[in-house]
Amino acid sequence: TKWVYTFGDGSAEGRAGDKSLLGGKGANLAEMCNLGLPVPPGFTITTEACNWYYANGKTYPDDLREQVEAALGHIARITGRRFGDPERLLLVSVRSGARASMPGMMDTVLNLGLNDVTVEALARDSGDERFAYDSYRRFIQMYSNVVLGLDHEMFEEILEEEKARMGYELDTEFSAGDWRVVVDSYKARIEEELPDGFPQQPEEQLWGAIGAVFSSWMNARAITYRRLHDIPESWGTAVNVQAMVFGNMGDTSATGVAFTRNPSTGEKALYGEFLVNAQGEDVVAGIRTPQNITERARIDAGSDKPSLQKLMPQVFSDFVGICERLEKHYRDMQDVEFTIERGKLWMLQTRSGKRTARAALKIAVDMANEELISQEEAVARIDPASLDQLLHPTIDPKAKRDVIGVGLPASPGAATGEIVFTSEEAEDARQSGRKVILVRVETSPEDIHGMHAAEGILTTRGGMTSHAAVVARGMGKPCVSGAGSLRVDYRSETLIAAGRTLKKGDIITIDGGNGQVLAGAVDMLQPELSGDFAAIMEWADKARRMKVRANAETPADARMARSFGAEGIGLCRTEHMFFEGDRIIAMREMILAADEKGRRAALAKLLPMQRSDFVELFEIMAGLPVTIRLLDPPLHEFLPKTEKEFEEVAHVLGVPAETLRHRSEALHEFNPMLGHRGCRLAVSYPEIAEMQARAIFEAAVQAGRDTGKPVVPEVMVPLVGLKTELDFVKARIDEVARNVMEETGETIEYLTGTMIELPRAAVRAHVIAESAEFFSFGTNDLTQTTFGISRDDAAMFLETYRKKGMLEQDPFVSIDVDGVGELVRMATEKGRTTRPAIKLGICGEHGGDPASIRFCEEVGLDYVSCSPFRVPIARLAAAQAAV
Ligand code: PEP
Ligand code: MG
Repeated sequence: TKWVYTFGDGSAEGRAGDKSLLGGKGANLAEMCNLGLPVPPGFTITTEACNWYYANGKTYPDDLREQVEAALGHIARITGRRFGDPERLLLVSVRSGARASMPGMMDTVLNLGLNDVTVEALARDSGDERFAYDSYRRFIQMYSNVVLGLDHEMFEEILEEEKARMGYELDTEFSAGDWRVVVDSYKARIEEELPDGFPQQPEEQLWGAIGAVFSSWMNARAITYRRLHDIPESWGTAVNVQAMVFGNMGDTSATGVAFTRNPSTGEKALYGEFLVNAQGEDVVAGIRTPQNITERARIDAGSDKPSLQKLMPQVFSDFVGICERLEKHYRDMQDVEFTIERGKLWMLQTRSGKRTARAALKIAVDMANEELISQEEAVARIDPASLDQLLHPTIDPKAKRDVIGVGLPASPGAATGEIVFTSEEAEDARQSGRKVILVRVETSPEDIHGMHAAEGILTTRGGMTSHAAVVARGMGKPCVSGAGSLRVDYRSETLIAAGRTLKKGDIITIDGGNGQVLAGAVDMLQPELSGDFAAIMEWADKARRMKVRANAETPADARMARSFGAEGIGLCRTEHMFFEGDRIIAMREMILAADEKGRRAALAKLLPMQRSDFVELFEIMAGLPVTIRLLDPPLHEFLPKTEKEFEEVAHVLGVPAETLRHRSEALHEFNPMLGHRGCRLAVSYPEIAEMQARAIFEAAVQAGRDTGKPVVPEVMVPLVGLKTELDFVKARIDEVARNVMEETGETIEYLTGTMIELPRAAVRAHVIAESAEFFSFGTNDLTQTTFGISRDDAAMFLETYRKKGMLEQDPFVSIDVDGVGELVRMATEKGRTTRPAIKLGICGEHGGDPASIRFCEEVGLDYVSCSPFRVPIARLAAAQAAV
């Protein structure tokens, strides 16, 4: 087997495409050699050798030694230097390099090959004894830590002691002789720990380092990193051994890192930093302030330290040329490492650079316009989830954060405002022009107006699909939910964080992007929806198959949804329309009415309000499909709670408040989520469904007349498990439709369909499809009922499952493909057997989740529907899923 691939001097055995075998670093080093760029010669031991190592009790394949020796010979031929030969000294670096970049997770050893003899050779070769001994002590320190497993602190202590003894402040004050003393102390200290002392044989050092790199694949840091980033253990790491070049050989040497474009703004301008007379670790350590590479960046940064452009103009221009070539070759922004050894430039690494969402967008669009990549590639390069950052104000990354607590990042964006604890206060504040954050233990449908009035919402209980989270996402308001470390005390009107108490009126900021709660106001960046954003969206729309609709019920949401490119409404939750203004009183009247007659009287008051809501929605959507769902939630959500509210309804109904309280108690349910809700309400009280159907059809006629664009409403029946349920409700809908057509003399086209949100509905989809003209997957309830996990209580224990590695992600956020997804797939197939042209969509929270959208494309749904702010994300994700 070939375990070792060499590179150097304008050619290489590997290439960029060999990442799985050579790791990212190794493959790119090979590629840079093939491009003829200056790369210190070396070789890569494959990831397969790493796997062999683990499969065989941490031993090496027989032929590996031979191949490594041959590869060292290859370096010798190119450099004229020989590993372990003091006459023609060759030192090497040994670095890990997995298929995916795992920054800082695994180990590196520099200056390998130094010992008591070769250090003298290095002093002679470099003409700098101080440099040689400094390198030697660095090597001992690094090697002892990485390979011998000795504590880093041990060496720092010795260094500090020596410094104190000699009365120095800085390492730079050490002379060659001083470093010799340090080296001796290091070696003596190692001998106390390990009888064999520090290994002097370069061969032995090399194999020690190779073993350490392989072993580091299984260190705790690397394992955690892999788990967090879904990197399989089976990938293994490669080992890169390379001739050392020194950035610390005096003032004509330097080392640095650069991005070929600005990684925070995306601007097409080389951006990077370097340090004169330094080795790579010095740049990372952050002890000295690095200098800018370009003059322009230096001026922008207001730095008085000379740029590389000024300091070494020839090297700079070579470097710029190389960066341009690399970018053209890789067709992406690169993140490079380089070293200058006595005026000669060496490239040590290149890879695709990490970037902010803003920069990603600009770079993708610019590169497509430069014809470096196609428009489809530009679309594929944007992480849909990252658009969240662009659609909302976000906290300026440069701002200071005074974090007082952390909850779930329930709805993206950041908001600042005064603390208020009730929705009434939120509204009052809004009216007087003040900005507030609504802080609640949890929210209920009655808080909708307060949530509307607030800049953002913070709750101390509840998960990602809690009321606060769902509604806030729908409104596009930032929300942090379930911040359990904070305590709300309504009585004293305080918010208690660890060691701090904030009062009503105090300013806080919430970051819905990461769940942080901060004290005080923080600088923000505003969203930018034109330009690059618009370009990517346009290209995405050309590439996708599925339609994207929005979940919306208010005119404001519907308009917002259209401005974000929604192609209709996939879910109008009518219950949300009953909390506004005095409708809630009529609603309560209806629920608490003694009989059908009373209910009908109350419904008659609601009818015109519903109708005008629908007219407005239909007009905004002008001919686009609108799915209206009949009343879904358990009735108790609408019940009066306070004394005043009971009095109010009692007055209207003309009965004593006491009577109402009794009726209200009778409506109590032990498990409302599985109780009297959904189509069960329509079965018990058909008059509610009839009123809603009438409002829909009358509105359709009116909106059609007003706009000249006929509306085809899609009437949706929730929580169906039995075909008989759907048939019962559908019969009422059809009858109302006939009546309205007769009364108005217009024909109304409409569809009647159902949500699939119970396992039984999925299993019986072929039967339900006999009556349903469309299915919309309500994956919130379908997840709840498939797992038997309450969506309102899940957050309390799901996080524990995640931490214990029992569940990869929250199934209420990203669809559980194996379970819930299987039901969706089954219902899709069964539905189509009965009714081939059945319209299929999804309207649970998953409709805005990129991974779930990919799944929807796979099973062939016709559309996804999500909250307005997620529409762009869904458009992009649908495009990526389609190509
Ligand atoms: C669902 O259950 O997925 C759904 C969209 O309905 P709701 O969230 O209103 O129960
Ligand atoms: Mg539901």
